[in-house]
Amino acid sequence: MTADVHDRLRALPSVDSLLARPEAAALTGTYGRAAALHALRATLENARRAIRNGETTPDPAALLSAAAARLAHEHAPTLRPVINATGVVIHTNLGRAPLSAAAIAAIQAVAAGYSTLEYDLEPGQRGKRDVHAERLLCDVTGAEAALVANNNAAAVLLVLLAFAQGHEALISRGQLVQIGGGFRVPDVMRQSGAILVEVGATNRTTLDDYAAAITESTRIMLVVHSSNFRMVGFTEQPELSALAELAHSHNLLLIYDLGSGALLDTAPFGLAHEPTVQEALDAGCDLVTFSGDKLLGGPQAGLIAGRADRVAALKKHPFARAVRADKLDLAGLVATLESYRRGAALDELPVWQMISANPGAIKRRAQRWRRSLGTGAVIAGESTVGGGSLPGETLPTWLLALDVPKPDAFAARLRRADPPVIARIAADRVLLDPRTVLPGQDKALLGAIKAALASG
Ligand SMILES: *Cc1c(COP(=O)(O)O)cnc(C)c1O
Repeated sequence: MTADVHDRLRALPSVDSLLARPEAAALTGTYGRAAALHALRATLENARRAIRNGETTPDPAALLSAAAARLAHEHAPTLRPVINATGVVIHTNLGRAPLSAAAIAAIQAVAAGYSTLEYDLEPGQRGKRDVHAERLLCDVTGAEAALVANNNAAAVLLVLLAFAQGHEALISRGQLVQIGGGFRVPDVMRQSGAILVEVGATNRTTLDDYAAAITESTRIMLVVHSSNFRMVGFTEQPELSALAELAHSHNLLLIYDLGSGALLDTAPFGLAHEPTVQEALDAGCDLVTFSGDKLLGGPQAGLIAGRADRVAALKKHPFARAVRADKLDLAGLVATLESYRRGAALDELPVWQMISANPGAIKRRAQRWRRSLGTGAVIAGESTVGGGSLPGETLPTWLLALDVPKPDAFAARLRRADPPVIARIAADRVLLDPRTVLPGQDKALLGAIKAALASG
């Protein structure tokens, strides 16, 4: 080491002298003393390395600002609100359904203090958390009884544990679905201790296939919504009502994992008809399971609706306790279901507002964006519903298309905005779909785009 490097290393301030400076108080106040100390030590270590590589000695202010940058980066929150400009309405990676104003208010009210979660005001005694959403769920689906778990995967597992553990459950080979990242129906079934009996072929399963597979040990027939793929061509699945008849003639339960669980018909919006909870129950399913945060448009939850005796058995199962919904979830779910009961779901629930959005209004919004930016083109395109519903179906939309030199780098700059903007890229253009950008987000969105254009 040369004497010169030695001098420059010796000129570095100590951790203690840095900590004694006024700027350090802001760091310890924001991040805590231990984290601030750690960052200062790491910053000094970096400086020593740089000095050995020929750099000059940074002054204390520079060291403190480097430490501040390090802390800001390390402590940046990982769960942040974003602007969804992808046009995928129920985007699982982006948190699925945005909640209605009423659901948000209900969650806030319950979160801030005590509540009647398990308290019955009339007698002034212990009550049940089951009651809050159950009656509403029955009202809007026509089910005899209902139960809320914390998500649909848990609901399916609970049903299998309660009714098929150590016994056989029949499922069509065409319905051994993988839903999103790693949730495979056959794996869940095995976790429950149910013995999976695959029937039929991938593309065709008949009533006779089910009938031939029934043994002494069979307890349930499970139907699973194909969620995220569509089979076309030479395909066949028996009618639900015929399956129900077969199941009941052998004393078996017919369980339908509906996945998305629409309560409203999707057909009026130019989409295929998504099977509804009401139809599944009318067809004779004993229990149907579905998510709270897909087409229902509420918070994360797994809803089970169906026959009263079967729901009562589920409630008694120990696993029900392990997967029960929390109070915030229930508050949001109840408010969401109230919108359906009032017949106001289309007006009040963001998911349905987006699905039913008027294409003319979407186009005018994209044109306003274009005028404000002074660049881009408004082009026809397609939005999707997502969330394991309506695979392959699209909604006609209007997109703002930006022709920029490096679309990937531009999209990355949009993701670095605050709040981050998530866009789509197709045919070397950055595409932004107004359908999924919430009302009130235009200003932030345009600000992010302008900044990204300016730094390009
Ligand atoms: C989405 C989905 C699930 C999982 O639901 P979560 O609420 O995410 O746990 C299960 N089954 C089907 C058919 C689905 O589409």
